[in-house]
Amino acid sequence: MNHDESRALYDRALSVLAGGVNSSVRATQPYPFFVERGDGAHVIDADGNRYVDYVLGYGPLLYGHDAPEPVQSAVQKHAAAGPMYGAPTEIEVEHAEFVARHVPSVEMLRFVNSGTEATVSAVRLARGVTGRDKIVVMQGGYHGAQESTLVEGGPGNAKPSTPGIPSSFAEHTIPVPFNDEETVREVFEEHGEDIAAVLTEPILANTGIVHPVDGYLEALRDVTEEHGALLIFDEVITGFRVGGLQCAQGKFGVTPDLTTFGKIIGGGFPVGAVGGKAELVEQFTPGGDVFQSGTFSGHPVTMAAGHEYLKYAAENDVYGHVDRLGEKLRSGITDILEDQAPEYTVVGTDSMFKTVFTRHGTAERADACADGCAQVESCPNYDVCPKTGADVSKAETDRWERVFWQEMKDQGVFLTANQFESQFVSYAHTDEDIEETLEAYKRAL
Ligand code: PMP
Repeated sequence: MNHDESRALYDRALSVLAGGVNSSVRATQPYPFFVERGDGAHVIDADGNRYVDYVLGYGPLLYGHDAPEPVQSAVQKHAAAGPMYGAPTEIEVEHAEFVARHVPSVEMLRFVNSGTEATVSAVRLARGVTGRDKIVVMQGGYHGAQESTLVEGGPGNAKPSTPGIPSSFAEHTIPVPFNDEETVREVFEEHGEDIAAVLTEPILANTGIVHPVDGYLEALRDVTEEHGALLIFDEVITGFRVGGLQCAQGKFGVTPDLTTFGKIIGGGFPVGAVGGKAELVEQFTPGGDVFQSGTFSGHPVTMAAGHEYLKYAAENDVYGHVDRLGEKLRSGITDILEDQAPEYTVVGTDSMFKTVFTRHGTAERADACADGCAQVESCPNYDVCPKTGADVSKAETDRWERVFWQEMKDQGVFLTANQFESQFVSYAHTDEDIEETLEAYKRAL
């Protein structure tokens, strides 16, 4: 493949954009390909190379790069009619009504402009309504570029994971291992009166994928209720991706107090949202005292795109299609791994998938399961699926990033360059795309 144009563009970008990109994950090595346009399930780069796209904008593009016609005409209509006003519009109300009708935890929403802004606002709301400062997060979980959750370490020794964040922020954050009920109960025994909320992705999608073991999300629900803390599900990735229109909370049957959204809910445009019980969400200003505001929040073009996205999914077999192809891909890769790389694991559910370049050690696992192990239906290879961020971190990241990812790209398959970030299937993908991708996996592995 020729990449001369991308190289030249990257050279220009490096002079005027920090690291040549506007989101650090995009700076793939040795240089990123620059996209010229999308076409269905494919992207075409500046040199005319074509790739089957499983990055899908890191999750928002449920329909790939060809949004259904009602989405496109709604976007054009609202762009031509404004595009925004600093005054409310009907489409914000319609979109909120739709989300509240379908997502179990949501009675009321506040739309914002990114997943980060959603989790920042949800944490502020939880602290504001409980009058407590501490939040519990999962090791390896990701909630965007925000001060309270960019931490590393464990209970008692959390510290900021990047320069630029005062360590006093981390004093209020308690990271715990995912799927470890005992630790979270101990943390609540010690700090229960100071904990405003547990904030977790229902499935860790940025470090894995790591599935919840049966009973874990229920345990979080119980322990937060027992101590008067809130449970916040970060469904920025899983929202309208896992469990269809009910989201992951519907699939797992656990209803949080607050839910954060992003990605799909904006139909491909910048978005975030905090939803939950009305008595909580109405504590945001102006109804309540917890300050929240945003120039672009509830942007009509975004609201129209998001609303038409979800309406189309309600009226067509969108989730049936993406979930079926997701399953076809996971089981195809599982077969290939058995043959060619039995030390690796396929993870994912619905239309999410990843190949983790490690395997939960079987000896270790046999010990851990001596008294029986919690099972989880959603993980295709439960016995060897990673259970925590630490399990996943044993993966051969270099091999993924420097060899496998590059090899797949050269074969025209665009995966997430980071070993730990989820990949997705869209409504535009076809059986042929999956078959072609499986052939590429065979060759690359
Ligand atoms: N939460 C989760 C679970 C995410 O995966 C992400 C981003 N991938 C965010 C929050 C932050 O969203 P954004 O990048 O839109 O700020």
